[in-house]
Amino acid sequence: MNNKTTFSRRTFLSGIAAAGAGTAFSAVKLPEIDLLKKIDESKNREIIENDTDPILLKRFIPRPKNIKLNDDREVIFDNQLTVKIELKNADNHAKHKTSDLFKQYFNVTPAVSVTQKTDAPDGEAYKIKAAGSLITLSASNFAGIRYACNTLRQLAEVHSSTGESTNYSIPETEIDDAPAMAFRGLHLCWFPETETIQIEQYIRWASYYKFNHIIIEFWATFPFASHPEFNWQEYSATPGDIRRLVKLGKELGVTLIPQLNIFGHASGSRGGSGKHAPLDFFPEFQSLFEPNGWVWCLSNPATRKLLTDIVLETLEAFDYPPYYHIGGDEADGAAECRSCRHSDYKALLIDHLTFFHKLLAEKNCRMMMWHDMLIQSNDPRWKGYVANGTPRMNGVLNALPKDIIICDWQYGSPKENETWPTMPYFKKQGFQVLACPWNNVENIKSLGETVVKTDLDGLLCTTWHSPSYNQLLNIMMYGAQATWSTTPYTSVNGTMGMRHLRQIGWDIPNKKYQNTGVHEWQVRPDIYP
Ligand SMILES: [Zn+2]
Repeated sequence: MNNKTTFSRRTFLSGIAAAGAGTAFSAVKLPEIDLLKKIDESKNREIIENDTDPILLKRFIPRPKNIKLNDDREVIFDNQLTVKIELKNADNHAKHKTSDLFKQYFNVTPAVSVTQKTDAPDGEAYKIKAAGSLITLSASNFAGIRYACNTLRQLAEVHSSTGESTNYSIPETEIDDAPAMAFRGLHLCWFPETETIQIEQYIRWASYYKFNHIIIEFWATFPFASHPEFNWQEYSATPGDIRRLVKLGKELGVTLIPQLNIFGHASGSRGGSGKHAPLDFFPEFQSLFEPNGWVWCLSNPATRKLLTDIVLETLEAFDYPPYYHIGGDEADGAAECRSCRHSDYKALLIDHLTFFHKLLAEKNCRMMMWHDMLIQSNDPRWKGYVANGTPRMNGVLNALPKDIIICDWQYGSPKENETWPTMPYFKKQGFQVLACPWNNVENIKSLGETVVKTDLDGLLCTTWHSPSYNQLLNIMMYGAQATWSTTPYTSVNGTMGMRHLRQIGWDIPNKKYQNTGVHEWQVRPDIYP
């Protein structure tokens, strides 16, 4: 912009006001304020959003617990800004990490000071206080400070005083926020069709929405050095991609957890696709699988050897994470080959699962698995819920080590007074349980409430598709509400969700049309050729 066309913001605004006979701003009637002041009995956590403009509240995903905004006053993020960090636990890197975030999010370099404070919030909770030219952020450690900065980023908007230099600003703000549950997970699929940048987008988006664990399931896309026949050579991730993403996860406060399927889903491909890695190209590996190719053959010792190699390889690539997901769902066609069908299949399955449990435990890693093969499909207690176990697997659950984390996936709409009975059942058997929703919004909300009410151990949101079908946006927004926010959940704003995705695109930075927005194409070529 050259000098002739530069105008001050004040001049610009007064011009508008004159055109509107002085009413352009003063006459704007704000919508009625949705006053939420309810007590969540289970945790006695009070939501305070007194007199806060819904126009500002809708910017937050997930919605913080207590918000007080004074929109009559502004805090401008310019070179006068001072940021005071209060930490319970000392962190020598907090100062430069905060500076880096303010530079990245708000293009400003404030004066940052860090002090240790014993009464700073615990765990992942944080507090924000912003007035005048001072922002105070308090937390136990830097994870909480990052959450505070993410909240500020959602609230902030850009102003230009001259048309050239721009500053972010927020209203005078007090926020006191804490998560609803400790384990806030997202399960992602890395298909041959998935681009690395998409996984990076989802990791960044999850971190922005205060998730702290991401499971990455490889659909024959992990670049196995030990057994290259078991991944699609031309459509796999590279070791460099994985190293970079694991490092990025650590920087963003998200633990990346690998998943390989060591029971069903053995083709590494969608059942309906008819594809199979490795059998489509390497029939010599048939004996590692049951005849239908969908389930690993547990009676063949070579199966265990191969799975051991590839599990260890993924563990190393993920820098020895605290959890590992072995899949374990939908093993349709188990115990069908000659040696399996003549075996004590229950004992075989117990031995298989406990072998991998031990392998992981030796690496300081806890095993996670889907729940459905561990409860019987013909048990009337589970009618209407996902339960896929067969009589030959009856009793496997009782023999499993109790530190296996059961990931109970139930995707249906909640019934009235829904209790999701399979989840407390696993809990009563002594396991830790993650409730796992998919794309049904009412289901996501119901499972989030169930975790808090019945003291389950967390929520693991699943995705199962590319960002197309407009599913990921809802999963991210409602998943964020269900994992972080206090019930009753408020509505979320999809356009704001897409704004957040755009901000992530700036961070990457994303420069490719198909990777913008929530769809790769506005008009999908496969549907509208
Ligand atoms: Zn077999």
